[in-house]
Amino acid sequence: MRVEEKLKQISQQINEACINVHRNADEVKLIAVTKYVSTERAMEALEAGIENLGENRDEGLLEKWEVLKDKPHWHYIGTLQTRKVKNIIDKVEYIHSLDRLSLAEEINKRANHKVKCLVQVNVSGEDSKHGLSPEDTISFIESLRPFENISVEGLMTMAPFTNDEQLLRDCFRKLRELRDQVQASHLDFAPCTELSMGMSNDFTIAIEEGATMVRIGTALVGEDG
Ligand SMILES: *Cc1c(COP(=O)(O)O)cnc(C)c1O
Repeated sequence: MRVEEKLKQISQQINEACINVHRNADEVKLIAVTKYVSTERAMEALEAGIENLGENRDEGLLEKWEVLKDKPHWHYIGTLQTRKVKNIIDKVEYIHSLDRLSLAEEINKRANHKVKCLVQVNVSGEDSKHGLSPEDTISFIESLRPFENISVEGLMTMAPFTNDEQLLRDCFRKLRELRDQVQASHLDFAPCTELSMGMSNDFTIAIEEGATMVRIGTALVGEDG
C-alpha cells in the first residue's frame, strides 16, 4: 500500500484518539520510523506530507541523509553508542534515547549548538529495554545541568510488547506523571514538555494518555518497500 493511503488511515486514528480525550491533533507530532525500509520509501513518505523521520541506527540514518539531507526533521530513536555520537550529531534535530551520563558528556562535547534530547525511561522495568528506572530519572535530569549543549525537551519510553490495554495505559500514564513532575521543577535546561511514546500497535492509547510524539514504523511505511 502507498504511504499516502496508510497516512490517511493513521491520521484518522490520531484524530479519533485526540477527540476521545479532548486534545487537538496538532499537539501530536507524527514520526515515520523508516528503519525497516529503503530510502525510496522514505522519500515517498516525505512526498505524502510526512515531515519527521526516525532512525535507530547511525548507518541507516546516514544512508538516507545522503539523499534526503535536511528535508525531513530527523529523530534518532535507538540506543546510541557513545562513539557514534559524532556521526549523527549535526544531522538530527532530536535524540530520543539519552539514558546515561557518559552519553550526555559526549553529546555536549561534540555539539556546537543546543541539542534537543529526550530522556529514555524504562517504565515497564523489562530487562530487555534501555532507559533509566522511573526512580532514577529526576536525579539524572538534575545531573544534566552543567551540559550547556543539552536541552531536555521531554521523556521517551517503549511500552511492553503486549495487547493488554490496561498495562499499556499504566505504562504511558506513569511516563506522563514523571514528565509533569520534571516540569513542576521549572529547570531552565529541562522544559520537558514532550512525551515520546506510542508505536504501531499502541499509538492510539499513547495519545489518549498524553503522547506529543508518536513513532510509527510498520503501520505507516511498512516493514519493506
Ligand atoms: C522500531 C521502533 C519504533 C517503530 O516500531 P513499529 O512497531 O514498527 O511502529 C518506534 N520506536 C523505536 C524506539 C523503535 O526502535
